[in-house]
Amino acid sequence: MLENKNTERTPLETLGEFALIQHLTEHFELSQESTLKGIGDDAAVLDFKDKKALISTDFLVEGVHFDLSYVPLKHLGYKSVMVNLSDIYAMNGIATQVTVSIAVSNRFGLEALEEFYAGVATACKLYQVDLVGGDTTSSNKGMLISITAIGVANEEDIVYRNGARPNDLLVVSGDLGGAYLGLQVLEREKEVFKVNPANQPDLDLYQYIVERQLKPEARRDIVELLKKLEVRPTAMIDISDGLSSEILHICAQSEVGCNLFEDKIPLDPTVISTAEEFKMDATTIALSGGEEYELLFTIDQKDYNAIKGNPNLTIIGHITDKQEGAHLITRGDTKIPIQAQGWNSFQK
Ligand code: ADP
Ligand code: MG
Repeated sequence: MLENKNTERTPLETLGEFALIQHLTEHFELSQESTLKGIGDDAAVLDFKDKKALISTDFLVEGVHFDLSYVPLKHLGYKSVMVNLSDIYAMNGIATQVTVSIAVSNRFGLEALEEFYAGVATACKLYQVDLVGGDTTSSNKGMLISITAIGVANEEDIVYRNGARPNDLLVVSGDLGGAYLGLQVLEREKEVFKVNPANQPDLDLYQYIVERQLKPEARRDIVELLKKLEVRPTAMIDISDGLSSEILHICAQSEVGCNLFEDKIPLDPTVISTAEEFKMDATTIALSGGEEYELLFTIDQKDYNAIKGNPNLTIIGHITDKQEGAHLITRGDTKIPIQAQGWNSFQK
């Protein structure tokens, strides 16, 4: 189960670049009114009328950002798109198009790329974004993926990282720590598999967190929910590098401090039990574990009633004056400075 064991392997040279692009992209349909021209010319043509365009790009490198020994290619395609859509939602925008560029070594055959594009296609369909271009080339080693997401927003709806003000409430969507622990479980199973390939992993107990790692969902629903509730966050960011690191980005750019309450951080029961099993502290994981793709935002206190009790949203703290600094208030009521321990691919 852990290996991507495709039995068929059609070498990419048998198609050539143009036939390959054609083959991989022919079933993608265009659904956005703003897409005037998608794949097939020298450039895509988009028309956002009186709205602002949002653009965000990410690079994913095999061995640095993903490990194909336990990440199925279809999931990788899906996740690669999610990572980018998440950045558009973090601006309070709606994602409309993506471009997907890939470089692969001759280790990859057509079937592998078909799997990857099946994941891209599922993501595009579910999130209603059009694939409008990309580039395809070879690499000496491994797989590299670069995705650009494009979105739209009314100028007055765009939310930056720098708008938080003292007394605003600090809110997070979903729950935290799952993606990191899911990765720990997969890494552990990979080691077991290396020693005994006949040993098939039993991941049932860890289903939720493994899914958080392999198949994250960008929170378009939160952007829509906030619109419906008529709540415009004062600042927003997506959690790609860990809660503490993202909070510090908001504090630095908004020139404010904050108090984050440990007992308010939303944790799934699987996160609590798996953290115990790994002898790790669940709060530390929630603070430092990356790849959550939840939204972290601040709202004015007047909006408290609109969001209170919503099962998708948790108030985890509040914004203070800059001089007060950024602190975690622990369960034992001690105040400790928040440090960025986020994900850094250069530290590996
Ligand atoms: P160019 O020589 O202008 O770069 P290409 O032959 O690379 O053109 O691409 C032809 C068309 O196919 C363009 O619309 C391009 O955006 C699209 N395309 C190329 N590679 C991919 C890919 N991996 N995924 C999606 N679209 C792609
Ligand atoms: Mg090209």
